[in-house]
Amino acid sequence: MSTDTRWAVVTGASSGIGAATARKLAAEGFHVVLGARRVDRINDLAAEIGGLAVPLDVTDPDSVSAFVDRVERCNVLVNNAGGAKGLAKVSEAVEDDWRWMWETNVLGTLRITKALLPKLLASGDGHVITVTSVAALEVYDNGSGYTSAKHAQAALHRTLRGEHLGEPVRFTEIAPGLVETEFSEVRFGGDAERAAAVYQGLTPLTADDVADVITFAATRPAHVNLDTIVLKPRDQASATRTHRRGS
Ligand code: NAP
Repeated sequence: MSTDTRWAVVTGASSGIGAATARKLAAEGFHVVLGARRVDRINDLAAEIGGLAVPLDVTDPDSVSAFVDRVERCNVLVNNAGGAKGLAKVSEAVEDDWRWMWETNVLGTLRITKALLPKLLASGDGHVITVTSVAALEVYDNGSGYTSAKHAQAALHRTLRGEHLGEPVRFTEIAPGLVETEFSEVRFGGDAERAAAVYQGLTPLTADDVADVITFAATRPAHVNLDTIVLKPRDQASATRTHRRGS
């Protein structure tokens, strides 16, 4: 591999937005390091795109440290690992679900970013791209576990922009609306029917749609920082307002 090859790390690369992003960054010439817990999936994808698959559980500090040791250099970090568990009123909140969401979205992003920042800065042109959500911009009923975690993840990401001003690193927040991935199946504990209903009657974004935008941000010249990009399907006006066609 040439010493000029740019390295990109994608967390949560085993499905959805992360897998699509790994493919598109590789097509743009990046050497991609893929992290996720489902190792069989990242192994297959790494073989397909000529990348490197490394097991990663962002909720486990030892796993993060072993992962980062395998990343020789890093120009782009895509903080994508994350998700939601359940839908419940605050009065009925399930603490284990909250813990999962905060550990994965918030502390996971903190751990990986903190560990890779030295390599990003040493690259001379680092870029942290964090996938938050419209749930980082709005709250909605029954969604407080996820909206609070995404707000916190976004606050962490946005803080870095000021803390590293003047240093060779960019920070881009990507805030998607409805994207059809495994996200809703995970949220509803594998209930495929309930997950499908989330996207019924509208045309959601695809993982590729979001990956296109991430890849666009990652391929701008070094002086251009796309700060925040919100993307939603045409059928979605806000986190709570969608247009659905009758079946
Ligand atoms: P997805 O298909 O469920 O993918 C989630 C990814 O996160 C998987 O690769 C999963 O890999 C990984 N992950 C989960 N827990 C992890 C952990 N502890 N350690 C390492 N990786 C972990 O859903 P997606 O829609 O592509 O989600 C990607 C990101 O987009 C998430 O941050 C999500 O919150 C955000 N987002 C999604 C939507 C949407 O509507 N789909 C909208 C806005 C924002 P393993 O299970 O193999 O570890």
